Amino acid sequence: MSEGRHAFITGGGSGIGLAAAHALAATGAKLTLAGRNLEKVSAAADEFEFAHAVACDVTDEASVDAAFDAARDRYGAVDILINNAGQAPSAPFKRTTLEFWNKVLATNLTGAFLCTHAALPDMLDRKWGRIVNVGSVCSLRGYAYVSAYVASKHGLLGFTRALAHETAKQGVTVNCVCPGYVDTPIIAESVERIREKTSLSAEEAHASLIQFNPMGRIIAPEEVASAIAYLCTDAAASINGAALPITGGEI
Ligand code: NDP
Repeated sequence: MSEGRHAFITGGGSGIGLAAAHALAATGAKLTLAGRNLEKVSAAADEFEFAHAVACDVTDEASVDAAFDAARDRYGAVDILINNAGQAPSAPFKRTTLEFWNKVLATNLTGAFLCTHAALPDMLDRKWGRIVNVGSVCSLRGYAYVSAYVASKHGLLGFTRALAHETAKQGVTVNCVCPGYVDTPIIAESVERIREKTSLSAEEAHASLIQFNPMGRIIAPEEVASAIAYLCTDAAASINGAALPITGGEI
């Protein structure tokens, strides 16, 4: 249980982040929901008894620091950090410009670095902390047309593994969940992009995405959220530096 603990969730206004918020709230956590779109995260925060929203662009250090200051003012030091904010644009490598590459890396990898920098000192002081990074099946294998995304998610898993070693004796665990295709707004955007760029219908585009899952279905955000919430419990104290595939058996 996470009774009374303070969880900071980036990208907490939708998809996996919002589902994780519900799973953590069910275990008694107080929530800070962070995202660039304050209206969206505020509407999400309204769904909970103990939650508030903060505007936060994870690619901007000043914005991250201000968001953590606001979070501490509201609910005290952060005990649980869910590095979930991300974007998943696709492009063939020859159209992957430096600008495109930098944007994906900044959000999916440097964003987790900046938020961890803001959260970790309090966890180390208090000798208890949980960091869960939302990686992807793309942390564990490659696919065509998503080189920047796959590199960012492999990087996020590398970051997880290294930091887990560093904090292992200090009560702080760092883990990475690695989902396959999950039913969230990011996937709706991917289906739309495939439909625009190919002759596939929306149903065929959807089928092309779930073809890799041996269960032949899209994963529900709640399935990822329950794994995240478990990793944040005392019971999961010895699970550290793990990459947890949530892929229906693909990995
Ligand atoms: P969503 O689009 O619902 O969530 C992405 C969230 O990230 C949004 O809430 C968005 O909020 C936030 N975000 C994006 N950029 C920034 C930024 N610069 N600063 C702060 N917040 C940002 O999709 P998902 O729930 O699917 O995505 C959540 C995570 O799950 C991502 O890291 C994604 O890579 C990962 N994932 C998703 C899979 C899937 O199939 N859906 C599979 C594997 C991993 P806002 O716009 O308000 O900033």
